[in-house]
Amino acid sequence: MAPEHVDVLIVGAGISGVGAACRLQERCPGKSFAILEARGAIGGTWDLFRFPGIRSDSDMFTLSYPFRPWTGAQAIADGWSIRSYIEETARAHGVDERIRFHHRLVAAQWSSEESRWRVEVERGDTGETLEMTCGFLFSCTGYYRYDQGYTPEFDGLERFGGEVVHPQFWTDDIGYGGKRIVVIGSGATAVTLIPALALRAAHVTMLQRSPSYIISLPAVDPLARLVGGVLPTRLAYPLVRWKNVLLALTVYGFSRRRPAQMRMLIRKLIERRLPAGYDIDTHFKPSYEPWDQRMCIVPDGDFFDAISAGRVSVVTDRIATFTETGIELESGATLDADMVVTATGLELVPLGGVGLNVDGGDVDLGETLAYRGMMLSGVPNMAFSFGYANQSWTLGSDLTAREVCRILGHMDRYRYTQCTPRTGDATVTPVQFVDLSSGYVRRAMDRFPKQGAQDPWRRVQSYTQNVRALRRHPGDDPELEFTRAAGAPAARPSYLSAAPASTSPAP
Ligand SMILES: Cc1cc2nc3c(=O)[nH]c(=O)nc-3n(C[C@H](O)[C@H](O)[C@H](O)COP(=O)(O)OP(=O)(O)OC[C@H]3O[C@@H](n4cnc5c(N)ncnc54)[C@H](O)[C@@H]3O)c2cc1C
Repeated sequence: MAPEHVDVLIVGAGISGVGAACRLQERCPGKSFAILEARGAIGGTWDLFRFPGIRSDSDMFTLSYPFRPWTGAQAIADGWSIRSYIEETARAHGVDERIRFHHRLVAAQWSSEESRWRVEVERGDTGETLEMTCGFLFSCTGYYRYDQGYTPEFDGLERFGGEVVHPQFWTDDIGYGGKRIVVIGSGATAVTLIPALALRAAHVTMLQRSPSYIISLPAVDPLARLVGGVLPTRLAYPLVRWKNVLLALTVYGFSRRRPAQMRMLIRKLIERRLPAGYDIDTHFKPSYEPWDQRMCIVPDGDFFDAISAGRVSVVTDRIATFTETGIELESGATLDADMVVTATGLELVPLGGVGLNVDGGDVDLGETLAYRGMMLSGVPNMAFSFGYANQSWTLGSDLTAREVCRILGHMDRYRYTQCTPRTGDATVTPVQFVDLSSGYVRRAMDRFPKQGAQDPWRRVQSYTQNVRALRRHPGDDPELEFTRAAGAPAARPSYLSAAPASTSPAP
């Protein structure tokens, strides 16, 4: 029996996959599609992470989909609300019915002769392996491994008598009330988790090797509160959304152009939040510039309030070894603990770990160049969704979904069966795909595609510029090679001159 075929196969039912399905349905209504999801639930990140206090660290007006307004004034939302929002969106658009749960894509082979992908899928519920085919593969698998977080080697860890938990694997039955907890890490997860743990723990110590930039933002958006009761959602939502897009870009731009002033400003804001004489130089003065790494956001300064209240202390030091009762530091100090939480990061993986093969040759992702941050050089009919590092993820993933729909529309209009980004004769100097210096990014970047120094081999970290580019961009591009399968009709509108029989860069 021939394997099931769909026009577009979306992989992943997180915020990107659900958004991509909604866009596809809206903009390419004739296309058949399915969504493969390795887990048993919608939501991706927002279903997986269950640690106390899990919440967004970018505002919901930009983390939500432009086609489904985030109502209410709460800018920072808890994980459960975000998960419900994604689920409700899927249901409202009827794309929930297209999701095949417990279906993990493991490998995909492109055949130019057949103009289709043949994919291998493992079913987590039955253990079966099945095959499907599709005309276009759209990977919305996020950027990190679900089965494993990152934990560095800690000397003596096996000796420790207390509980050790990685936030990625936190479950509701983990008790922490009345415990002395050490949280290792200084990133977004640590600063989210710590104030929540401090509400019930005996004491929480944040143990960091080096400080991060931490900024406090209002949990409730002041503009949303102002206009929410006055303007209808269709006016209020885009207004607040664009205010937040522009504010984030302004802060980012200012940080890059005037790092010294930005450092000073952040320091002043922190000084105001912490008790007089607090050692900011040791604990809150990073060695890198603002936005060399992702900034940590805390709503209404909850993290600083917990420090000021004496429920949280910060220790900047290195671990020498774990002992039976806690941690010995390189300075010689010791930290007693009943529980250690390793907020030490994610293990990044591109394309959900799927192996790609094009016409019999395995694709080495590290050797490919990303076209507009969404397709791979030399890989036909395939796109991947990747958000911004300096703004809400969904701004980037929704733009990608719209670009994919535009390319699919263009292919349909001219009966192209294959679209492949090609560098041609151009020499593109490869640079790291994600422009952040964080350890977890640097550790993984050789496995990710590269990008070039400029358009279209680079997607600039600016939503406004990318929106403008999408509007100007007609769906083809000299760097996109469009071809037709032998014998496919070239149905072109009569007002356009005939395209070459098999290859056309830009009609
Ligand atoms: C704790 C935490 C907080 C964050 N907070 C923010 C924030 O506030 N703002 C922000 O912009 N970003 C934030 N991020 C980044 C976040 O991951 C993105 O916002 C966004 O949720 C990514 O959505 P996604 O759908 O692309 O990927 P994911 O949410 O990772 O979903 C990917 C889905 O694909 C499935 N999948 C993966 N591989 C396969 C496969 N081979 N076959 C089938 N299915 C597969 C997974 O099971 C998963 O359901 C945060 C990340 C973390 C970990």
